[in-house]
Amino acid sequence: MTNSKKVVLVGAGMVGMSFAYSALNQNICDELVIIDIDKERAKGEAMDLNHGLAFSHSNMRIYAGDYPDCEDADIVVIAAGVNQKEGESRLRLLTRNAEVFRSIVEPVTKSGFKGIFLVATNPVDIMTRITHHLSGFPASRVIGTGTTLDTARLRYLLGEYFHIDPKNVHAYVMGEHGDSEFTPWSQALLATKPVLNVLSTNAERFNMEDLERISDEVRCAAEKIIRAKRATYYGIGMAMSRIVRAILSDAQSVLTVCSRLSGEYGRYGTFVGTPSIVGRNGVERTVELSLTEEEMESLHKSCDILDENFKSLNLV
Ligand code: NAD
Repeated sequence: MTNSKKVVLVGAGMVGMSFAYSALNQNICDELVIIDIDKERAKGEAMDLNHGLAFSHSNMRIYAGDYPDCEDADIVVIAAGVNQKEGESRLRLLTRNAEVFRSIVEPVTKSGFKGIFLVATNPVDIMTRITHHLSGFPASRVIGTGTTLDTARLRYLLGEYFHIDPKNVHAYVMGEHGDSEFTPWSQALLATKPVLNVLSTNAERFNMEDLERISDEVRCAAEKIIRAKRATYYGIGMAMSRIVRAILSDAQSVLTVCSRLSGEYGRYGTFVGTPSIVGRNGVERTVELSLTEEEMESLHKSCDILDENFKSLNLV
């Protein structure tokens, strides 16, 4: 029995390798196994990262592996799948990626893996639910990246707008990682001051229209980046590292990961991005916010879309 922290990454594409690169630079685990359907690619990526080890503060063991390597892993990170094309909705990727996931989740569970799944593949909320369905794991051990990246984008943009360190901006993007996501402004704080109070006391400088513009910018960020450089990967790679670090260090961090609702906000079974406490057991619990009626409607709209899309797959 060792305390060695082992992570298996399935999917050595741009997102997977951005995660791996940031994981190496942040030294977040002791062993990193890379699996890809393209075995040569996985080998090449492992070699490339290993050649950077001498310049890092890490002694990480990095190698290309296969599904039996998942047996004693703490976390299996899935970033495999087909990428979102320009103009393609995340939900349209669904059917293609559901098949990819069958070929991944089954051999992972067969290996005897008893850790935590972290899913990044889009549409991430549904892919997370598919992983839960296929693995039969307890919901607390199946996590999606959810709206963690969107939340980071929101905090960055609010930091710029209010001229405040994003780390002191406490605001969340909730719901589907996609078109129906929303920002519950009633819950947004600058340090301990509600953003809505900041607006009412500084009406000459700040206004709701600007906040809605920021919210739209967050929603359209992926599309904008894809138009400019074909894909997004650094931000999501760092979000994945953040979640993995929270799990491995039992940080009990509040992150807007995708997790299953069990009665919170009056919903059961939907996997969706909401603030949750993340630690060694995966999602330890959901932090239920006091949403306004309108915000609650937005969350339900997102959940309805996700439930419908999941059901349309008729998974057995
Ligand atoms: P990519 O095409 O660069 O990489 C995908 C990798 O998956 C490839 O290396 C491919 O060989 C591998 N793969 C495909 N089928 C496989 C299988 N059956 N088994 C093992 N490996 C397989 O794509 P990318 O840019 O890395 O994006 C990966 C996913 O991440 C996409 O679904 C993308 O939409 C998603 N993404 C999510 C977020 C988020 O916020 N959650 C952000 C950006 C991208």
